[in-house]
Amino acid sequence: MKVFCKYCDAYIDIEKEMFCPNCGADLSESRRMAQRIQQKKQAKEIESAFSQLKLNYDQYENYYQEAVTAMRTYHQCNENLLQNSRRAMTIIYSVLALISCAFLAVFIL
Ligand SMILES: [Zn+2]
Repeated sequence: MKVFCKYCDAYIDIEKEMFCPNCGADLSESRRMAQRIQQKKQAKEIESAFSQLKLNYDQYENYYQEAVTAMRTYHQCNENLLQNSRRAMTIIYSVLALISCAFLAVFIL
């Protein structure tokens, strides 16, 4: 990490230099400050990654709810279809029985 020396404004890499190569100032305080800034930056990055993760989770939760609703609707439609076809079969069987009765009546009489 590079900072400006607060005494002579030289641009120094504080990870390589213990003292300012220009004026000889002790850089330990600058190093501590730079580390604190670095830590805050990392904390912010973690926080933003975490909120992104939560956003993704919420979106996933929404998709899941939509899928469950769609599945229930599909199931209900199937159920209705089944009931309707049962009704239709009952009507068809009744009509067939009536026709058979009519034929029997015609043959017997
Ligand atoms: Zn300096």
